[in-house]
Amino acid sequence: MSRPLQARIDLSAIAENYRYAQSLGSGKTVAVIKANAYGHGLVTVGEALAGADALAVATIEEALALRRAGIATRLLVLEGVFDPAAQAEAAAQQLDLVVHSDYQLDLLRQLSGVHRLVVWMKIDTGMGRLGFRCEEARCVRDALQKLPVVADVILMTHMACADEPEHGHNAVQLQRFDSAAVASGIGQHSIANSAALMGLPQARREWNRAGIMLYGVNPLQGGDYQQPLSCTLSLESRVIAAREVAAGESIGYGGDFIYPHSGRYGVVACGYGDGYPRHAPSGTPVLVNGRRTRLVGRISMDMLAVDLSHLPDADVGSSVTLWGEGLPVGEVAEHAGTIAYELLTGLTERVPRIYRDGPLGEAVDDCLGATAR
Ligand SMILES: *Cc1c(COP(=O)(O)O)cnc(C)c1O
Repeated sequence: MSRPLQARIDLSAIAENYRYAQSLGSGKTVAVIKANAYGHGLVTVGEALAGADALAVATIEEALALRRAGIATRLLVLEGVFDPAAQAEAAAQQLDLVVHSDYQLDLLRQLSGVHRLVVWMKIDTGMGRLGFRCEEARCVRDALQKLPVVADVILMTHMACADEPEHGHNAVQLQRFDSAAVASGIGQHSIANSAALMGLPQARREWNRAGIMLYGVNPLQGGDYQQPLSCTLSLESRVIAAREVAAGESIGYGGDFIYPHSGRYGVVACGYGDGYPRHAPSGTPVLVNGRRTRLVGRISMDMLAVDLSHLPDADVGSSVTLWGEGLPVGEVAEHAGTIAYELLTGLTERVPRIYRDGPLGEAVDDCLGATAR
């Protein structure tokens, strides 16, 4: 028997979440599939979403992997390119590029050839990360318009606090964006990530950029971890050993979890080597046979332990859900002091991805750069 740990991925749920994102606002929806489609498999998800208005990735390498797989969908590179070779490749592969800095403007100036591309001109309205200063918007747009390789310009920005719709910074960013939009005269706009799309209707524009929500995670703080989205990935395993324990005995490395009463625990095939967060404390929820229990003791590289004291039917072979259907990944992330994004993107290569609505439930090895085993 192979190791029982699997990530079960529902491609139709991802498509459903995409359609929900599309239903918000009247703009077009970019499906963000960077970072191995938030752990779900870059090419497989790219194929499942090939009918999207556009796809987006962070890097040129991800974009080229999608093109090599035959995906012809409009494709945006969110960090843009960093050198002339990548610039030329991007043009040849008909990629849309973010341009956020002067050196990227220079790369475009050096580009010659027959291909023209769409530039997403990024301004920093208060994220404090990438983008031209708002006051430069007009001048950068004029520079872009002079270049024969630039087919069209879309004005974009990124929100810092959209997961808290009431946060005062949101209005500041939106106001700066609108001023820069007027000053630059650019007619097509893109502001919203998932949180803004769901929680800030004023941020919905001609193009919205949905990432985490496609993967069934509601990013709004204090909201439901999942609703109204569909769960897309269940991290499932089994109990591989079950033990009785006496009051006062310790479990796992460091011996710092001590059983307060006699009971039982199970050892589960899943650890931080698979991407389960090592900092998840005792008490973090886990499902065994669909019922809630909790972690006990520290996470090992390949294993973790769960309390079975109140689950007399649970034994070796019992099914375990680390997160997914019935246990939102955002809830586990909160216990571990992190966010769902980190847990999803952190799933390691050794976790087989099993696709529903994929190739007949077979394991598809779709980690970036990996070849079929
Ligand atoms: C990753 C990313 C997104 C998607 O963000 P989510 O919070 O996952 O929806 C949107 N825009 C940019 C520029 C990004 O880098």
